[in-house]
Amino acid sequence: MDHAYLPEPWRIKAVEPMSRPAPATLHASLRKAGFNTCLLHSRDVYIDLFTDSGTNAMSAAQWAAMMVGDEAYAGATSFYRFHDTIRGYYGYEHIIPVHQGRAAENIISQCLVWPGSNLPGNMYFPSTRIHQELNGGTFHDAIIDEGHDPSSAHPFKGNFDIGKLRDLIKRLGAATIPYVCVGATVNMAGGQPISMANLAAVRELANEHGIMVVLDAARAIENAWFIKTREEEWRDRSIAEILLAMCDLTDAATMSAKKDSFANIGGWLGVRSAELAEQARSKVLLYEGLHTYGGMAGRDMEAIAQGIEESVQEDSIRARVEQVAYLGNRLIAADVPVVMPIGGHAVYLDAAATLSHVPREEFPAQTLAAAIYERSGVRGVERGAISAGRHPETGANRMPKLELVRFAIPRRVYTRSHMDFVADSIIDVHRSRHRILRGLRFVHEPKHLRFFQARFEPMQGSELFADE
Ligand SMILES: *Cc1c(COP(=O)(O)O)cnc(C)c1O
Repeated sequence: MDHAYLPEPWRIKAVEPMSRPAPATLHASLRKAGFNTCLLHSRDVYIDLFTDSGTNAMSAAQWAAMMVGDEAYAGATSFYRFHDTIRGYYGYEHIIPVHQGRAAENIISQCLVWPGSNLPGNMYFPSTRIHQELNGGTFHDAIIDEGHDPSSAHPFKGNFDIGKLRDLIKRLGAATIPYVCVGATVNMAGGQPISMANLAAVRELANEHGIMVVLDAARAIENAWFIKTREEEWRDRSIAEILLAMCDLTDAATMSAKKDSFANIGGWLGVRSAELAEQARSKVLLYEGLHTYGGMAGRDMEAIAQGIEESVQEDSIRARVEQVAYLGNRLIAADVPVVMPIGGHAVYLDAAATLSHVPREEFPAQTLAAAIYERSGVRGVERGAISAGRHPETGANRMPKLELVRFAIPRRVYTRSHMDFVADSIIDVHRSRHRILRGLRFVHEPKHLRFFQARFEPMQGSELFADE
């Protein structure tokens, strides 16, 4: 018998009670948070799809592993388990532990980026680009045009435009490019994968010019699943084999273990060059801790090692990606505009389409995220003009093509009925969109990563929804 939807490949051993806040609480909490879902208190949120980062449910085996964490300051057994597991599954020769992904980005940027250098990538990620910019580098987007088109159903919207990349190298000069950064999957494009063939083409072009390739491996396992299901040659290979083949095409990786690895905190930097490893370790000592713990407790390293082994299991990654697709498909069936195809970790609403009557300067995505929370207690987050920030030189607002609200799904936390509630809530606001007349304006705008702490007020009055 065929089943339309296979059940989650786990059962629940421990539960965390939650309850639905009253409408008045939602209304008041949104105003206390300055209409910014980033500033909500978690107790005021019902279903929290703010991020899939560090919000995953750990397995019984991970919790058990935490109990045997070796907390020795130097050379902990837990570090060696962590180290050997990463080497085994990701293949980098040198593994440097850090407290989370951005710490690896900080360290590799400090080691490799210099003032005036250029960094091509398949769309930016905020923390990655900021560390490049803080070290004097300039990011250059070389993703295929489809990556910026929410309606394109291209199966690998995270691919590089190899022509664009070649032109960038020619125009800027290979000597000004420390490395090409490869996102897999591409978070800001909607969790979209890069194909193995495209990654191989990037590698080849980089080799021609002696340029390094650095992988952002946060969701490389989700990417591996898409390669397996969408790239014919890889259909019969295991997720572990595909992951290793992807990493093989790169010289280094920055990793946030808060994503694929089911951990609540942690990360690492993997490199092949012994010289770069030594340079990076000296930075870890300054910013993170000794090079055998890098800001993590021994128990965190145990949880990550165990999590990696679980993450490459086929039923695990299948359930993860299919749950995201389930939510996306329910919205598609109700004609809610979403980024297509549905990505690996999140469903992205195309706020510019839903609120096409709200000007971009009034931040339709921020407005839509606020409206959905106010009506349902479901928390998503803006991924559009607010997240893109201002241009470092001109100070003008960057207006990316994509103006999205992201609903990221924590791994193994919510069930299908939670997804149904989320879908119903989003569909409800979508159907009431004509009652949202205006957007939001800044009341407070921080200089760096402004989306986390910005505060807003409605352009007009104090309500988002006009009366019927
Ligand atoms: C989360 C993330 C990072 C940064 O990792 P943190 O652990 O949050 O510091 C970098 N790149 C991508 C694609 C991410 O999703």
